[in-house]
Amino acid sequence: MGLSLTILGCSGSYAEPGGACSGYLVRDGGTSLWLDCGPGTLGNLQRHVSLADLSAIVVSHHHPDHFGELPVAYNAVKWYLERETIPVIAPVSVREMADAMVGHDTSDVFDWRIVGSGDELSIDGLDLRFDLTEHSVECMAVEIGSGEEHIVYTADTSPGWDLEAFAAGADLLLGEASILEVQERPGMPHLSSRQLAERARAAGVSRLVITHVIPGNDPEAHLREAAAIYDGRIDIAEVGLTFEV
Ligand SMILES: [Zn+2]
Repeated sequence: MGLSLTILGCSGSYAEPGGACSGYLVRDGGTSLWLDCGPGTLGNLQRHVSLADLSAIVVSHHHPDHFGELPVAYNAVKWYLERETIPVIAPVSVREMADAMVGHDTSDVFDWRIVGSGDELSIDGLDLRFDLTEHSVECMAVEIGSGEEHIVYTADTSPGWDLEAFAAGADLLLGEASILEVQERPGMPHLSSRQLAERARAAGVSRLVITHVIPGNDPEAHLREAAAIYDGRIDIAEVGLTFEV
């Protein structure tokens, strides 16, 4: 199978009933990345790949809904799995928070690859590129590519980040739209469906997957609001869905 994205959790900020916070699985051939490890996503991850076989963990930022299960993964690898270390790619604040939560230096298990804005690296044939978004803490958007195909994940961002520059020409944009236009207000560290769709259109992305919708909002309303602006294919993220790029 080529480059693909599987939704492990997609609730915005906190889990909807029976749901999970932010987490995704990006696969290409035998390479697999757990992209954000929000609460509820470790269980869903293992429906597809075991932690023992995972290539790396990528974490956008240290907000609990995006990274809360990283300390849990530490214990799983440390005590129970047939592997000694696992690469973790993240901004430095994620490492600091993980060390604090575990209670000591986690580098015996986590092979930390600290990234900043503009950094690029490769994991088992997948190329990653990072860009700092505009959020309430240091947060990295990431482009994940294999040859000609690229997925861009916005992580969390307010409207001030230049999404269209970073995502230009992406084959699939996994974009956060926590709220609807009527819920926009100054200082909101997230996008509305309207704001995401305008940027997806400007970036010329081939396909849009809307995620991080807050519990209680109607996903169909998010879809309609975006479809009035962006005329490419749009899907709403749902746990268990896989999108092939
Ligand atoms: Zn956040």
